[in-house]
Amino acid sequence: MAREDYEVVIGLEVHAELATKTKIFCSCPTSFGAAPNTHICPICTAMPGTLPVLNEKVVEYAVRAGLATECTISQDSKNDRKNYFYPDLPKAYQISQYDKPLCEHGKIEIDPSTGRKSIGITRIHIEEDAGKLNHDEFGRGSLVDLNRAGVPLIEIVSEPDLRSSEEVDLYLRKLKSILEYIEVSDCKMQEGSLRADVNVSIRKKGAKEYGTRTEMKNMNSFRSITRAIEYEIDRQVDVIDNGGEVEQETLRWDEVSGKTFSMRDKEDAQDYRYFPDPDLVAIKLSDEYIENIRKSLPELPESRKQRYLTEYHLSEKDANIITSSKYLSDLFEEASKICNNPKAVNNWIISDISRILNETEMEPVAIPFDSKQLAKLVMLIDKGTISSSIAKKVLVEMFEHPRDPEDIIDEKGWVQISDEGAIREVVSKVLENNPQSVADYKAGKEKALGYLVGQAMKETRGKANPQMLNQMFKEELK
Ligand code: ADP
Ligand code: MG
Ligand code: ZN
Repeated sequence: MAREDYEVVIGLEVHAELATKTKIFCSCPTSFGAAPNTHICPICTAMPGTLPVLNEKVVEYAVRAGLATECTISQDSKNDRKNYFYPDLPKAYQISQYDKPLCEHGKIEIDPSTGRKSIGITRIHIEEDAGKLNHDEFGRGSLVDLNRAGVPLIEIVSEPDLRSSEEVDLYLRKLKSILEYIEVSDCKMQEGSLRADVNVSIRKKGAKEYGTRTEMKNMNSFRSITRAIEYEIDRQVDVIDNGGEVEQETLRWDEVSGKTFSMRDKEDAQDYRYFPDPDLVAIKLSDEYIENIRKSLPELPESRKQRYLTEYHLSEKDANIITSSKYLSDLFEEASKICNNPKAVNNWIISDISRILNETEMEPVAIPFDSKQLAKLVMLIDKGTISSSIAKKVLVEMFEHPRDPEDIIDEKGWVQISDEGAIREVVSKVLENNPQSVADYKAGKEKALGYLVGQAMKETRGKANPQMLNQMFKEELK
């Protein structure tokens, strides 16, 4: 059978590191990139006799995430121990949540090419991150860094509602943007702040039962996730077509070879011997507590998008791109207010700015200029101080050596020449040097005008006002 004869079924478990200042059960800092084992204390290194105390911010952030994804918030929740041994887990158990997660039964809307659909969120629970093993490249052993041990996480588990790598990509991007909007995680994928376990299975079209799934752990780039899913679907189709059975196992995706490799057979849930952590009290949330958090939620991407369609008349596609990032969306609204030209700001964001972000693999938050500076750039074009082609060069400069667009123009001498005398001078010079084009134009070759304007532009290194040039050439050639 061909791949088209199968339906793909995918469910995601996404881990997001929360943007709290301190860890989940102690007061060690959570900041990334410190020297190994400098952000540790007796609690997060599991010294005997220490007691964890739940960081209230962790609960608040998880509830924010739950409300933003339309979950029901449990007023009665608790922490459980998930027992397993690994050298980066000094307690030999992870404090997580088992049968009473904080949030349940939510959903996220996506817009794949097949039309809008809703992806169910099974649950969102809180847990602690483990440390990190650094494997010595000379094979002499591994070194453990416990800075990450006890960093708070939320795990967002989806229903197996996703049907293609396209849907997975859209779902993850939407989830990431929601978490950024509500400011519970910085979602920096390169730093591992957002990572996904991807569960993939296939079944014959029309089949009622799900097929056996495999799980690819800790994926942290959109590109690898798409590649890995495509590879894994093909592999499973192959196995079944050849009369085999897909085994339930954990796989590791290797970016270099573009293949998945088996890591271990799937352990069953009860292997973890979950039980309520006796060192922590139950989590009881009042209606008032939950409602206060609901009231504090900012406008979410979906609602902003609808507003951009009606208020600013953006196209659906542009509105999607801009609202996909809170940073871009804020940049758009603030700059539009300042320069009063949303159409131009929209164009800058979806064309030149997006292109530079893509080329340099930069996240929108890292854009080195602010909304005032972008607005100034638009106003400088609107006033005729610079042409739009010069403005493109100014933008590149704003990315490379961030400063006010006016300063860049002054320094570089990029102010547009709109002075009649100066333009006339260039026009005369170009006419004098190009008798053939003048003759061509007079003989009816309209195209010659474009050439002359081009020459004048070259002469002024792109600074002459193009409308004035056109007009003056026409006058002179009459
Ligand atoms: P665990 O991996 O902890 O045992 P679950 O059984 O709850 O947990 O499933 C985890 C994830 O796997 C969920 O996101 C779920 O949607 C997804 N999933 C479950 N069954 C399948 C399946 N047959 N195919 C694809 N994904 C699945
Ligand atoms: Mg799993
Ligand atoms: Zn600590």
